[in-house]
Amino acid sequence: MYQKIYQKNSFNTLPCFLLLSIGFFLCFAMPANAQKIFNAKSATLDNGLQIIVVENHRVPVATQMIWYKIGAADELKGKSGIVHFLEHLMFKGHEHQELGSYGPGEFSRIVRSIGGKDNAFTGQDYTAYYQSVTVEHLEEMMKIEAARMRGLNVPKEEVSSENKVICEERRQRTDNKPRAQLAEKINAALFPVHPYGIPIIGWMEEMKTLNWNDAKHFYDQYYVPNNALLVVSGDVTLPQIVAMATRTYGLLPAGKEISERKRAVSQTPVAPHDPIIMKHENVQQSLFQRLYRLPGARQNAKAALALEVLEEILGAPSTGRLYKSLVIEKKLAANISFYYSSATWDDGTAGISATPVSNDVIDSLRLSIDEVLRNMAQNGPTKNEVNDAITRLKTGAIYARDSLSGPAMIIGRNMITGTSLDDIESWPEKISAVTVQDVQDVAQLYLNPDKLTYTPPVEGILLPKNDHNKNARKDEKGEE
Ligand SMILES: [Zn+2]
Repeated sequence: MYQKIYQKNSFNTLPCFLLLSIGFFLCFAMPANAQKIFNAKSATLDNGLQIIVVENHRVPVATQMIWYKIGAADELKGKSGIVHFLEHLMFKGHEHQELGSYGPGEFSRIVRSIGGKDNAFTGQDYTAYYQSVTVEHLEEMMKIEAARMRGLNVPKEEVSSENKVICEERRQRTDNKPRAQLAEKINAALFPVHPYGIPIIGWMEEMKTLNWNDAKHFYDQYYVPNNALLVVSGDVTLPQIVAMATRTYGLLPAGKEISERKRAVSQTPVAPHDPIIMKHENVQQSLFQRLYRLPGARQNAKAALALEVLEEILGAPSTGRLYKSLVIEKKLAANISFYYSSATWDDGTAGISATPVSNDVIDSLRLSIDEVLRNMAQNGPTKNEVNDAITRLKTGAIYARDSLSGPAMIIGRNMITGTSLDDIESWPEKISAVTVQDVQDVAQLYLNPDKLTYTPPVEGILLPKNDHNKNARKDEKGEE
């Protein structure tokens, strides 16, 4: 599950102010007999705030990450984008009698002035905020974060200017990017009766109408200690963090009890969808994408583990079956990737993304991808492939363990989407138990091109505007 945080091609997280920095892992091996990945410790304050601490004493720094169980998929109809808008407003000022008052942008300025980093991101199932600082400043960060959990107070003019900021963010990230537009259309087709089909950033027409009342409604309901998870990783201990949290977050009263979220999910099978074909003048190189809807870890933990191993066997860069077949042997694609995302409250997704060597080979490319998947479904992986994949996954977990904010990110994202801390900690043991048969079973059930028993995948093809191949002609209307 660790690598899910740093999704190559994630459809369900929208990082904001800064892109999450990746690739900062340092090599530092766990003891060979360690049973748990993180050896995390936990506690809960009287007001319901859940606390997780991961100790790492190599350098005197720490990351505090606060996760709220509220995401874009929990928005009300017609208010798409409000959860992300609220995330932006959280940086625009707050006042709290006991914990202090801070003007627009002040929190981030304080973080920068002490040489720290901060960030926030919104997903379909969560909203999270973090700061990485030296340990001496951690309590101050907790105090300011606690103050804005219950003291949000944004000047009117900041609300309207921030509304323009999110609309501009949508223009830049989606409306001006053909790939993002295609991804949005594929996602909408894959989740026609589920909020995951609505983009996290929202639909532009609805975003323009979002206001303070909309944001405040969500804030008051969900930004409460009993709907939050505080994860701190770094040079700290649980007793220290509980003491600091008691002095800061502990001053906040619990909010109303929040029932477990249930999104409207239709039981009606989703009909197969024609490929979505998009032509765009800014496109130089065509793109093929296919997105599957399959169980996430909360829905089916055993299948999710097998799918993680399958992801590695099919999609490992340079050595995965898809790369070997499509790029090296058949030379149909310049590149191909496969990912599976399991940290979701409802259904997870798996996606294939390929750059065809030319627009004329798209049909052959699709058929060849199917051939790889069919072979996996019919014959399964080899024992060696499964062993190697498990070894690589476990090595990745060791690196993740030793990064500064990695553990907070992994634990937060998986717990907030319904995986228990015990299940996260025992992941190495569980992934080691995945068998050849388990992997073949999930390939047969979810990726077999001849027998799709779950929800049919949705394909998208992005083509240059002036392309004249037959795929392009299928859609004379175009979607620009
Ligand atoms: Zn944003």
